[in-house]
Amino acid sequence: MKELTNFPYNDVLVLGLAKSGTAAAKFLLETGRKVRVNDKQAADAGLADELQSLGAEIITGSHPLSVLDDMDVIIKNPGIPYDNPVLAEATRRDIPILTEIELAGILADNHSIGITGSNGKTTTTTLITEMLHRGKQHAKVAGNIGAVATEVAQTLEENEKLVLELSSFQLMGVQTFKPKIAVLLNIFEAHLDYHKTFENYRQAKCNIFARQTSDDYLVYNADDPVVRTSVDSAASVKVPFSAVRRIDNGAWADETGIYFCGEKIADKNDILLVGQHNLENVLAAVSAAKLSGAANEAIRDVLETFSGVKHRLQHVATIRGRMFYNDSKATNILATQKALSAFDKPVILLAGGLDRGNEFDDLKPYLKHVKQIVLFGETKEKLQRVAAEAGVPFIQMAEHLNEAVRLAFDRSEKEDIILLSPACASWDQYHTFEERGDMFEQAVHRLV
Ligand code: ADP
Repeated sequence: MKELTNFPYNDVLVLGLAKSGTAAAKFLLETGRKVRVNDKQAADAGLADELQSLGAEIITGSHPLSVLDDMDVIIKNPGIPYDNPVLAEATRRDIPILTEIELAGILADNHSIGITGSNGKTTTTTLITEMLHRGKQHAKVAGNIGAVATEVAQTLEENEKLVLELSSFQLMGVQTFKPKIAVLLNIFEAHLDYHKTFENYRQAKCNIFARQTSDDYLVYNADDPVVRTSVDSAASVKVPFSAVRRIDNGAWADETGIYFCGEKIADKNDILLVGQHNLENVLAAVSAAKLSGAANEAIRDVLETFSGVKHRLQHVATIRGRMFYNDSKATNILATQKALSAFDKPVILLAGGLDRGNEFDDLKPYLKHVKQIVLFGETKEKLQRVAAEAGVPFIQMAEHLNEAVRLAFDRSEKEDIILLSPACASWDQYHTFEERGDMFEQAVHRLV
């Protein structure tokens, strides 16, 4: 079992019994801490029994303020807002409020790579992990991307790296966490319901580098004005990246190549990922991989073969010269704009879904190279008007994605891009955007 040094607390309240809370509680119990668990839902009987048998005190069904009595620290589920009465009272009593990322950081010691940003976290985290693996480096991935960080951190071997995707919610509750390499992709306005102000949100993101020292690295997006000014206070070695201009101490791209600190790493044309936003993710990943000692060959290999994270502008097939892309995660207009901007070849767009009251006029300037649009879902009539006004030459309606794929393919030509980027949530016809993306993929594979 791994030791938990540098955690000067004995009585720990774990607030929220989801996956991360359970992992934190079990680990803390193993290290000999006294653990009280509180969740406003009744706990699953098996789990409650297990935690109790390990020595935890379990209080479920409500959040009485007395759960704070005698506690030194709180490990809270990242989803619980700070205006929760227990947390508000903890602040009054000066009880520190952390997330389990703090534990993972201590366990990973000095071997973690942390990635955050408003957008692009999963893509960049996956790219970095793939680059390290391709170069035969030992690395495990965890955090916001899936596996619980504390759980994975306990299994790290000597010199094995922990690649952590980190949300603002996870980062807001850290005190000593400091990755060896921090990656800050971008900061847009987001999650204001939780953070209340943009400044709070920005500061949470900046926690990724706030405790770094001159032995650590901060990879950051020099094209993002909020990021650029935010990193001024960092004590770590700054490694900027830019998709639009030459950078001498970091990564950049021009028409032909991807470079890092003056060295050409890859041909730009060989990168499979499309879109300017993905170019930024690539530059961030190349920087982190190079700083971790990855060989150029390993990095190139990944850039030439990685077709995208599932449902995010992911290349899923090329059939008779037509390239199919699954961008089912595009549940709003901005994401579809981004997807359409990624291509200069003729596009056949599949779009539509849940009606949230949008009129979609903001899509019009992006439809110039769309030669055909196939619409489905609740918003299809609204999108039909917009497509007609934008001058899309051919507009078709479909009942569901299967039919939409068929219609798109029937009128397509070699070199066309057939793109699912719905600009709408999926819940009118599908349970999740993942299910919608899977249906698209199945329909594409049925074509052959
Ligand atoms: P996250 O994990 O931060 O949600 P993802 O990698 O899953 O990010 O990408 C989700 C969506 O965010 C993409 O489909 C794309 O529309 C957008 N996106 C990805 N990377 C970037 C970026 N670097 N800048 C702006 N938008 C991006």
